Amino acid sequence: MDAQAGMLARLFERSMGLGPEWEVSDVWFEAKGDAPDELHIRVAHVRGQAVECPECGRRCGVYDTRERTWRHLDIWQYETIVHCAVPRADCPEHGVHTVRMPWEVRPNSHFTALSGAQVLAMAISGLTAVQIASAMRMSDGAVWRMLGRAVAEARDAADYSDVRRVGIGDTACRRGQSYITTMVDLDGRRAVAVTEGRDKGAPERLADELEAHGGDRDAMREVTRDMSEAYAIGCAGAFRKAIQTIDRFHVMQLAAKATDRVRCREAKSSEEKRRLLRGTKYCWLKRPENLTARQAALKGSLMGEHLLTARACAMTEALRAVYACPGRESAGRELDRVVSWIMHSNVPEMKAVARTVRKRREGIPSWFSRNATNAILEGLNSVIQSIKRAARGFRNVEYFKTMIFLRLGRLDFPAQLAVSSATH
Ligand SMILES: [Zn+2]
Repeated sequence: MDAQAGMLARLFERSMGLGPEWEVSDVWFEAKGDAPDELHIRVAHVRGQAVECPECGRRCGVYDTRERTWRHLDIWQYETIVHCAVPRADCPEHGVHTVRMPWEVRPNSHFTALSGAQVLAMAISGLTAVQIASAMRMSDGAVWRMLGRAVAEARDAADYSDVRRVGIGDTACRRGQSYITTMVDLDGRRAVAVTEGRDKGAPERLADELEAHGGDRDAMREVTRDMSEAYAIGCAGAFRKAIQTIDRFHVMQLAAKATDRVRCREAKSSEEKRRLLRGTKYCWLKRPENLTARQAALKGSLMGEHLLTARACAMTEALRAVYACPGRESAGRELDRVVSWIMHSNVPEMKAVARTVRKRREGIPSWFSRNATNAILEGLNSVIQSIKRAARGFRNVEYFKTMIFLRLGRLDFPAQLAVSSATH
């Protein structure tokens, strides 16, 4: 072992917390073409030391050994491979079992628990699978398998028995393609169930998923959802005892989507309109108080152009103003006035919004008599949108679900993260 290899061996021993029964017996480099060398570390069981039965923890003799390798976290930029002839414990009560290595959580994992913990920590902190795969020099598929398994294990342990108020909403997996429906626990501020599609069966599937984790659909007191016909029917059937609420978030989301459709259509209508509307998407979608100085100036300069998009934007603002009314009755009156104004306009996308609002009107002012959930839904939704943007959309629905639970599930990852905190 040369000096550098000796240093790496000690670094490995310390970071792994190898006990007295293990020693690093060899360290070597292997050339890998143009890539940096691979670092190989051999760990050996110290002769004469007892091993623990993985079933009962009893100290036993060694029955035999089996050769195994693990891909470890990179050390100093070197791709690191750990080798060990792993002993099998000979327990008088449980028979012959392969012992667990100090870094191991799952007996058959090909990656050490540490690299698993690092992948998980990177995903929770907001990196995409592609970014993690490149940093860890793994395939995207391997990253997704590790994350999927960690989420599945953590969700097995999740308890949703205290969920009483939920929000239900849809998201496209990619632009204009298949949809998922997400259910969030408004009191726990976490995603609790995700299902494919946004059909009227979606709420029923979400209720089933909730009950698979100790939840109770009949204990649900309030369901906040958007105004789609499918959710109206589905939620009424799945959560019979809950009050159905249309939150401000969903009204404003519907209006914002329609405003954006108006902008796209108008930009295609003539070369002049295309030029005027270029780069203005967020001028119309953001609240006036959230515009940057540049966006506010741009928006102001377009006000004299008689744009349909500007009219749609004004209608959206009028809908938002309904929620600034002091109470339920004045809000109801203001809502009816705004809806009637939009219905007499010449913007079909916004007229569709007004028709939907009128149809679901009874659920809308009920927002005033309950706790405002708008900020929670808005916050969770913006995380979902940022997950999707970072990944440039998801072809694989399961991957999208995995990321939503990682970032918004508030799950415990005790097994994986215990290993990482014990060694740092
Ligand atoms: Zn035993």
